[in-house]
Amino acid sequence: MNIFNLLSQNLAHASRTRPPADNVPYPGGYRGRLEHAGELCIACGACVYACSPGAITIDEHQPLTALWQYTEDRCTFCGFCVQYCPTQALGFAPAAPEPLTERAQHYLSHTIALEPCRECGQPVRLIPESLLAQLYGGAMPEDIIAMRGLCERCRQRATGRRFMQAVEKM
Ligand code: SF4
Ligand code: SF4
Repeated sequence: MNIFNLLSQNLAHASRTRPPADNVPYPGGYRGRLEHAGELCIACGACVYACSPGAITIDEHQPLTALWQYTEDRCTFCGFCVQYCPTQALGFAPAAPEPLTERAQHYLSHTIALEPCRECGQPVRLIPESLLAQLYGGAMPEDIIAMRGLCERCRQRATGRRFMQAVEKM
């Protein structure tokens, strides 16, 4: 095809350049900007454990609060924190992170309210009722109700007591 034919063919077609507003859609499962739903977070630390570059931290902030923090500059977008979060508080938005000039947007932090354990008073985060309803439907199992509001250690003790009671009844 000679150059004149090519030019005339190109002129006959409309523009093939996409305007800025006509973005190419992100593919499904795209690992874009990390989002954290503070109201679903139970400050369990699974995301901190899963994150090898140390992009997520949880610190005790004040009595009965925990500070969840994310530093995007350290994030490799591997997705392990999203995969291991038990409450689905983490997810990826189908959007690219903001440009580097806007540094404030590279940090994300949420203060998670804790409550004293019903037995020992240690700070503990209750699993949100909305999440329990989603997991168990209308009626929550009795053992879940009995364990709610207990810290990990007190839950272990309560489980031990129940086990011993069951053994004694045999
Ligand atoms: S996506 Fe990976 S690197 Fe980024 S915060 Fe989550 S676990 Fe860490
Ligand atoms: S974001 Fe998920 S994994 Fe991380 S502390 Fe909160 S509940 Fe746990």
